[in-house]
Order: sequence, then C-alpha cells, then structure tokens
Amino acid sequence: MTGAKHEGIFKDAKEAIVFALHFSDQQYAKSPMAMFLTRGAHGSGRGLSGLDGSGQAGMVMAEVIRIHYAEALALIARCSAKRLRCTCGSPCCSKWTPNPIWTMATSQLCDVSLTAVGSGMSSRAIRLASTEKFFGQKLSIQEIADFCSVSRKTAGEQHAKIKEFLKDLEGRAWFNFTDRLEIAGMLIREHESSV
Ligand SMILES: [Zn+2]
Repeated sequence: MTGAKHEGIFKDAKEAIVFALHFSDQQYAKSPMAMFLTRGAHGSGRGLSGLDGSGQAGMVMAEVIRIHYAEALALIARCSAKRLRCTCGSPCCSKWTPNPIWTMATSQLCDVSLTAVGSGMSSRAIRLASTEKFFGQKLSIQEIADFCSVSRKTAGEQHAKIKEFLKDLEGRAWFNFTDRLEIAGMLIREHESSV
C-alpha cells in the first residue's frame, strides 16, 4: 500500500479519464452511505467502484491536472457526456440537460482556439460552434453558417482552421496524459506477463 507507484488499473488513458469523469457525475456514489453499501459487494477485482473508485477517480484527476491546462480541457471535452438526464419534472422538459462540464470545457477551448484563427474576422459564435462540432456535437457546416449569418465558405474555412488546431492539441493531450499515467504506474502492462 505504500510507495509512489500505483498498481496498474486501467487498460489505457481513455478508460482512465472516462472512468474519472463518469464517477464525478454520480453524486450518489460520493455519499457516505453509498460508499458504505458498495464496500462489501464490489471491493474486489479491478476495484472500479465504491471506496476504491473514489480514490482511483482522484488519482486519475491528479494526473489530469499535471498536463497543460488546454490539453486537459481537450480530454474532458472529448470524454465527458454532452448531456445528462434531467429530473426537474417540468412538463416541457426534454428529460435531458446540458452537462456543465462539457459546456465549460468546450467554451474555454473556444477561447484557446482564438490563436489558431487569429484575431481577424472570426466571431466567437463560429469558433464555439466549430469547437462543439469537433467534440461531437451534431452540427453541419451549413448549420454553423446559418446560425452565425456567414457564408458556407467562411464557416467552412474557419472550421477547418479550428479543427486542425484542436486535433493537434488533442493529440498532444493523449500523448502526455498517457505518459503521466505510465509514470504513475496506473496502466496495466500486458507485455510484462506475456514475454
Ligand atoms: Zn428538466
């Protein structure tokens, strides 16, 4: 139980951050009673629940904050749910509500991406829509153009620049985050047992 290195837990970086984000969405799992109840039943195996889960989610987040902030935003935007179940009970409710984590991450990345398109004629609305599209929001270039009152050509060009910037950023993010998890010994090394 002592020492700086953790036992391998996750098969890759994506599994690690998806787990940490999903865990933090579940308020239920943080309550003392829930922790007490899950302790006995799920305290074995890879331990991705209950008390162990809380600690492991914290360990993953500790590595997330060690990489560059914009890179961390890219991982969070890629792996958090875009929307969460809504239980407000209003008759007009769609039963879904935007996940504030995803909204915050994409909004901040939109501001970061300003460097990619320059200060020129880019509007924040196009950058935000392009950023959301890159991270999985179902939006066509035409819809972005219509929404931002620009030509399809302008929307397409700006989206292409932002996409290139974000793709590069996300690539570095996965590389550096995987590196951090490996240093911390949190990834399962399959090669060691098979050689
Ligand atoms: Zn609602």
